[in-house]
Amino acid sequence: MNLNEILYSKYGKDGSLCTNEEIYAALLCEVNRLAAEKKSPESKKKLYYVSAEFLIGKLLSNNLINLALYDDVKNQLAEMGKNICEIEEIENEPSLGNGGLGRLAACFLDSIATLGLNGDGIGLNYHFGLFRQVFKENAQTAIPDRWLNDDCWLNKTDKIYPVMFGNVVVAARLYEINVTGYDSTSNKLRLFDVEGINENLVTSGIDFDKTAITQNLTLFLYPDDSDEDGRLLRIYQQYFMVSAAAQLILDECTAKGCNLHDLCDYAVIQINDTHPTMIIPELIRLLVQRGIDLDEAIEIVTRTCAYTNHTILAEALEKWNISQLKKVVPQLVPIMEILDDKVRRKFDEPAVHIIDKDDRVHMAHIDIHYSSSVNGVAQLHTEILKNEELNSFYEIYPEKFNNKTNGITFRRWLMHSNPELSAFITELIGDGWKKDADELEKLLDFKDNKEVLQKLLSIKKEKKIQLKNYLMEKQSLEIDENSIYDIQIKRLHEYKRQQLNALYVIHKYLEIKAGKLPTTPITVIFGAKAAPAYIIAQDIIHLILCLQELIAADDDVKPYLNVIMVENYNVTLAEKLIPACDISEQISLASKEASGTGNMKFMLNGAVTLGTEDGANVEIHQLVGDENIYIFGDDSETVVERYKEKSYVSKDYYTKNKAIKEAVDFIIGDEMMKLGDKVRLERLFKELTGKDWFMTFPDFDDYVETREKAYADYENSLEWAEKMLVNIAKAGYFSSDRTIAQYNKDIWKL
Ligand SMILES: *Cc1c(COP(=O)(O)O)cnc(C)c1O
Repeated sequence: MNLNEILYSKYGKDGSLCTNEEIYAALLCEVNRLAAEKKSPESKKKLYYVSAEFLIGKLLSNNLINLALYDDVKNQLAEMGKNICEIEEIENEPSLGNGGLGRLAACFLDSIATLGLNGDGIGLNYHFGLFRQVFKENAQTAIPDRWLNDDCWLNKTDKIYPVMFGNVVVAARLYEINVTGYDSTSNKLRLFDVEGINENLVTSGIDFDKTAITQNLTLFLYPDDSDEDGRLLRIYQQYFMVSAAAQLILDECTAKGCNLHDLCDYAVIQINDTHPTMIIPELIRLLVQRGIDLDEAIEIVTRTCAYTNHTILAEALEKWNISQLKKVVPQLVPIMEILDDKVRRKFDEPAVHIIDKDDRVHMAHIDIHYSSSVNGVAQLHTEILKNEELNSFYEIYPEKFNNKTNGITFRRWLMHSNPELSAFITELIGDGWKKDADELEKLLDFKDNKEVLQKLLSIKKEKKIQLKNYLMEKQSLEIDENSIYDIQIKRLHEYKRQQLNALYVIHKYLEIKAGKLPTTPITVIFGAKAAPAYIIAQDIIHLILCLQELIAADDDVKPYLNVIMVENYNVTLAEKLIPACDISEQISLASKEASGTGNMKFMLNGAVTLGTEDGANVEIHQLVGDENIYIFGDDSETVVERYKEKSYVSKDYYTKNKAIKEAVDFIIGDEMMKLGDKVRLERLFKELTGKDWFMTFPDFDDYVETREKAYADYENSLEWAEKMLVNIAKAGYFSSDRTIAQYNKDIWKL
């Protein structure tokens, strides 16, 4: 690519005279063209990965890397006196996902294209995404995250499908984003948008008229479902997505000569969590409409669909009332009743019925009965599904259940986010690891090589300084690169237990106040958005922000302990934070985190995990061994048992354990009350002492002790660097290329 020539023909001036915005726009245009020119994989059978979320992150650098243009463009820009990092900053991050589930879908698209598989993503084009988080008076506020503009990766097509809600017809227009694979083919992310969307419906913050469904369907991802209109809107959104998707899939298959009886030879539909579940009854409806007998239609769809389960949290498994469904999708209700009826005829067990005694439709149950594959996302998670949560289903369909441990794309989470480490790895073992991640194990040969270990430490330091500068420039946050960076970044949820981390911070604060000083200063970094209707999560953010303010103003403590919460945690920030991290906090209550993928990104960048035996932490532990991870807390069997017996009483721990009592009392102590909101702090205190549903207290002592051990070990930098090296070397297993190869071999068979 000759960038200067491109810029000259577009703007009539030399690159050095162009603004960063102009250069970004020109690059986008050119890269988009090159991506579209890449050939798409061809095969009779095609994968459709249907997901309500694709948290793709910025695309410019990712595409440049995948098209093998990154270094060239970077150098050409440098010759013009421009910095590629500043050009990257111009791009808005598409706000099309929430957290791990959406990011997983994005990593999968990268790997599907990289492996040359014929598969597209299908989702929705949310104009305002999730929301943009802004802190005010130590609390989260939410504003629309408008990411669309003239210069973005979205390409409009002229395909439009009608979607029927009772008698109301809404038009779904298809947009596409080119998905480049690494040194490979290119696929598409296909996003439907409602024609006639009205962005002016948004009044203040993220409030909007939730009933104006012909104009609001693609404004936001997961609008607040704390009221009935919000819940109905989710059903509208879901049906909008899957009805358009089903029509698109049938069109493409028939165009390839499929006669619909053999649909499963032409298409496999991966249902990412329960949000796209209605694609099952919708496809059945469309097949019947096109002349296929009902029983055969059910059979065809079952063979075509596969379902991924992402959670065992009961409250996160979607259930819709028949009355709600009748309002939104009356045409699907008779089909769901038939699907339920077929199940009831075969199985008496109410736990496996689709419609329960309260007339609620269990979406996951539709998926399990009427798909050919059900997968969990990490070993432990799949075992819990089989033996506990979905045991009644497992007894019926043992052959459907399988595990696909999640993965991440190393192009974004190492090559792009940490070019310094990537270059060093390549210097040591060649660049085969970029396509075959298992080659990272060759790094183990350097385990005792002091020079290599020193270099790892110096790269880490460089990334810590880069993060320090970035946070100062963007968020006016000050951190010390000579401190330990201890990071917990993920959606805010009680099961992920940011509150446990915050209790540790209080504990440490009190210790420092009492004169017990850490050897190396500690920087605790949080990043998390909380669902706007999730009150306790908002309270936990408030606690953390108050602690940040309290400590920043305390000259006794400040030199030893710094606590910050970054605003609006997203993929862009993750790419800066993760390479700079020393200790990766993965402290969910055992059995509750299905897999986690943040844990894998940190490991790959040489952070050492401090975590519970939960999700993929279990597999990280198996891979790196006891020496190279810090595991604490009760295991999942103990936790599951405790829930069954209902034996946990948080008050008992609070009254008997002095350290817990001191930390928890501090939440409503004078210092905090002066800074914070009395209602929020007292509510959180009550929640912990009266319930503590995610059992932070039983793990507290072990958490403190293990964290201290990690900090103590950090003091021996060469031994620490060895742990870093082992983590990087063993991370190959968590490449999403491996995950996707397994999906293809066991489920998709493309
Ligand atoms: C990877 C990622 C997540 C998932 O993090 P977990 O720790 O696995 O929950 C969430 N948000 C963003 C922006 C990510 O990049």
